Amino acid sequence: MIGNVQQNQLCLHTYDTISHHLSRTLSRLRLSGHNLNIEQIRQQQHRVPYELRICTKCNWHCVQDEEHVLLDCLSADLANLRVKHYQLFRSSTGSSNRLRDFISQTDTEGLALFVYDCLEWCA
Ligand SMILES: [Zn+2]
Repeated sequence: MIGNVQQNQLCLHTYDTISHHLSRTLSRLRLSGHNLNIEQIRQQQHRVPYELRICTKCNWHCVQDEEHVLLDCLSADLANLRVKHYQLFRSSTGSSNRLRDFISQTDTEGLALFVYDCLEWCA
């Protein structure tokens, strides 16, 4: 029981270190409460297949999901945001779950600022 309490406090502490605004940004990303095509088109009246919810910011014809926007999209503006927030991209684990590893990094505030910029740009 004590171990569970400490673990919960650790999770809360992570969100306590950043502003409510930035905490909300990360929650939106983790709960798919954002405006990327993967979710925005899913919520339309006529169901659009997953593979047709493509990115409108680049010419790759990829699904505009969280991983594409944060890590892969080659639009100039998103590439510039990755340069601006270069400290988030210094290490690569080579993991098969790149998005999970990326959003689990310890620089929570830096991550939240980057995610906020990306979601705003894709709005
Ligand atoms: Zn793209």
